[in-house]
Amino acid sequence: MREPHCPVCGGGDITLYMKGVFDCESTSVMECNGCGLQFLDPMMSDEEEHEYYRNYYENQKTRHYKTLSVKDIQTGALKNYDRYKDIYLDLIKDKKDILEIGSGSGGFLRFVKGNSPKSSVVSIEKSESNRDFLKDGDFNGITFLNDLSQLGQESRFDLIAAFGVFEHIKNGVSFLEMVRRCLKDENSRLAMNIPNKRNPLVDLYHIDEFRKFSYMKQHYYTYTERSLEILAARTGYVIDKFNYMQVWGLDNHLSWLKNKRPQNFKIYTDIFSAETLKSYDNDLIKRKMTDLMMVVLKKS
Ligand SMILES: [Zn+2]
Repeated sequence: MREPHCPVCGGGDITLYMKGVFDCESTSVMECNGCGLQFLDPMMSDEEEHEYYRNYYENQKTRHYKTLSVKDIQTGALKNYDRYKDIYLDLIKDKKDILEIGSGSGGFLRFVKGNSPKSSVVSIEKSESNRDFLKDGDFNGITFLNDLSQLGQESRFDLIAAFGVFEHIKNGVSFLEMVRRCLKDENSRLAMNIPNKRNPLVDLYHIDEFRKFSYMKQHYYTYTERSLEILAARTGYVIDKFNYMQVWGLDNHLSWLKNKRPQNFKIYTDIFSAETLKSYDNDLIKRKMTDLMMVVLKKS
């Protein structure tokens, strides 16, 4: 038997957090009691990973109670950028050259185009169907690439954004090192949105069905502030800040508490005022107990 150790801090105090994840009964979630990192065991091989992403959108469809078009997804995503507008405006402020890694349906591209039209933007998106959608989408002036390796050797950016990307990357150290080379100077930032370990459905309400639903083969790691600080120090960064955001609201949470599965929760949305929903989110944010966290890094 091999001794498990933490892939971030190297510590040997590892416990089993959960046996089986949403899409694989034989994958376990392990937790490091040193830095708090959670990681999958085993992780997909490179071949498995390749196959997994080939079928990615088919796989994702089984997670929603209704099928969404790419356009619906973009509209939903843009809503979230507008909802936390202060955080995203602060991020793109005075940033001339912006790179987004993993543009998905283009919600952030739309936000940048609307709020910083003079910025020059490069988008990397590896899904061909997403890329086709983005290229048709009135994104004049944005350069679309398939892969980081297509960036010119001399390309440097003021802001590199990777939202919902880092948790999918097996070798976080090499990703951070590679991206660091593309940051222009000391004012440049790398911003990454990742799932927060302290999701209230897990951390506060302890809904086992949600816990099973939220851990997937594609999310290799669930990071904590401490584990990100260690990774940053190892790869030539310091943490500029953490931002906490809550994507799913009280309406969704009540539905999970009652139904223990994803379901249309409109009946709850209709009961509560926008102020009630917003103040619930704000209370969670104050406690850093949210479904989403953003880490902003700069070169050390
Ligand atoms: Zn650790």
